[in-house]
Amino acid sequence: MNMNFKRKLPIPMEIKEMYPISLALEHKKHARDIALKAVFSGESDKFILVIGPCSADSEDSVLEYATRLAAVQEKVADRLILVPRVYTNKPRTMGDGYKGLLHQPDPEKESDLLKGIIAIREIHMRVLKETGLSTADEMLYPENHRYLSDLLSYVAVGARSVEDQQHRLTASGLEIPVGMKNPTGGDLSIMMNSITAAQHPHAFIYRGWEVESTGNLFAHAILRGYMNKHGQSLPNYHYEDLLDLTERYAASGLKNPAVLVDTNHANSGKKFKEQPRIASEVLHARRHSEDIRRLVKGLMIESYLEEGAQKIGEGTYGKSITDPCLGWEDSERLIYAIAEQV
Ligand code: PEP
Ligand code: MN
Repeated sequence: MNMNFKRKLPIPMEIKEMYPISLALEHKKHARDIALKAVFSGESDKFILVIGPCSADSEDSVLEYATRLAAVQEKVADRLILVPRVYTNKPRTMGDGYKGLLHQPDPEKESDLLKGIIAIREIHMRVLKETGLSTADEMLYPENHRYLSDLLSYVAVGARSVEDQQHRLTASGLEIPVGMKNPTGGDLSIMMNSITAAQHPHAFIYRGWEVESTGNLFAHAILRGYMNKHGQSLPNYHYEDLLDLTERYAASGLKNPAVLVDTNHANSGKKFKEQPRIASEVLHARRHSEDIRRLVKGLMIESYLEEGAQKIGEGTYGKSITDPCLGWEDSERLIYAIAEQV
């Protein structure tokens, strides 16, 4: 066997007992869940920003980022719901490199997954406790979701996972909104099928249990752009793309039609500075078409304290070690501009 079973890790219930959430935080998260779901169901016309670094690589800088975000949230509370991106596990295009806080609590050290599961719980808990903002993460490993299930208000299924059955079935058993990204190759039917699967009940095996899910009516779309066969990034946030999605939804019979537009990744071609322009184009499309206004419930933005990206070991505090991000000043300006335009 080419695998060493190094040690048995605590199960989510054990980790939750070791690092329990207080009743006050439980209520806070629950209230945020309700506020977010109200946007997806159309009861609230607030606009959602899932915003923060590509990867939550260090507790201190992520906490500082979320603290700044919380101050902005207060000022835009009548229009926007800000959900910090605290992305603790990263899918890698070729499998190598930094795989996130879960794998490497210290990006410059060897992987340590026991420390990792404690570190991801701690960072999400601290953000909730110290800023009042419950968080978003990618559900890269469905079987790990319950390490964080009492803390997260939003999860995304990434472009490389959206066609996977276990992700879809697990999403069908969650109580929070789950965003299904379009796959890297851009085929929207894969994303729509994923939303359909997640909105329906299933029986399946999860963490050694036979489980039954009831379906998650808050599963929805995320458009992140795509790569063509020549490896070129192509956007899918334009007016025609959004109109196309309203039509797909209308033909689908799916509940709570909704999309978040990811302004980075293949939509910007990772030209992170394009994100404000892309956001403003989406908001323009929203003002132009009532159907699009109803469909587009928010944006996903990659933003951190310092703009751009660096290599691991360069050591600039608050600068991304994965995808390049918008810096803080531009991000703050962008949030206020979005609040003006929704
Ligand atoms: C991300 O959100 O950082 C990410 C990896 O996205 P995608 O799955 O769209 O590539
Ligand atoms: Mn990214």
